[in-house]
Amino acid sequence: MIETAAIVLHAFDYRETSRIVRLATRESGVISAIAKGARRPKSRFGQGLDLFTSGTALVALHQSGDLHTLAGFDASRARPALAQSLRRFGAAAALAEVCLRFGTEATAGVHDALSAGLDRIGASADPDVPAATLAAAWRIVGELGFAPALESCALCQRELQPDEDVRFSHRSGGAVCHGCRSLVPGARSLPASARVTLVDWMAGSEVPLHDAPTARAHQRLLREFLEEHLGDGRAFPAFQSWERLDS
Ligand SMILES: [Zn+2]
Repeated sequence: MIETAAIVLHAFDYRETSRIVRLATRESGVISAIAKGARRPKSRFGQGLDLFTSGTALVALHQSGDLHTLAGFDASRARPALAQSLRRFGAAAALAEVCLRFGTEATAGVHDALSAGLDRIGASADPDVPAATLAAAWRIVGELGFAPALESCALCQRELQPDEDVRFSHRSGGAVCHGCRSLVPGARSLPASARVTLVDWMAGSEVPLHDAPTARAHQRLLREFLEEHLGDGRAFPAFQSWERLDS
């Protein structure tokens, strides 16, 4: 039995009275657990198993199989603001999807970056949601251990000047300088301003985005990066729905 901070990433009804949840836990990464009796009127889970709620989970981890038993969930923070705007909800679902897909590698840092990101999205007006979400997603990427090279060339390691326009090669792992660009044909161009924004986001700053085309370019860059690094050929449906909301 473990007791751990956790966030509800996904929840669905199971049989007559139960719910199955996927949780981003601080101690054990993303896990699936069955909450038996969660749909009974006087369930001990109460409303705690709503999407994107943070709390303390008591989990009986089973050695065999991937479905564990949720013995209790003490909700500490529901996030109703996320459901009050389609943009916020879509963004939160995209962030949750990133965690779900990289689940087993998740760490305490991932949990904490997700928690802060969901709070930030919940507090954002619609036009500010994309920047808040992108910043949180890149921080999660960093916590997962594959932050892209941004301040030096991913190939020759030369330090990049702040005003240097470069290419971004997903396969090479980040920024590629002018001298190395012929080695990454087809790589997207990454203007200096976009690169500086990425550096700032990964460092924890909440840098806003000033127009929709810039936000869309950032969304596309992040999605391509995730697809490359997950490498299992599956799409990111929630992420793509989120991109369509803002297009
Ligand atoms: Zn280079």
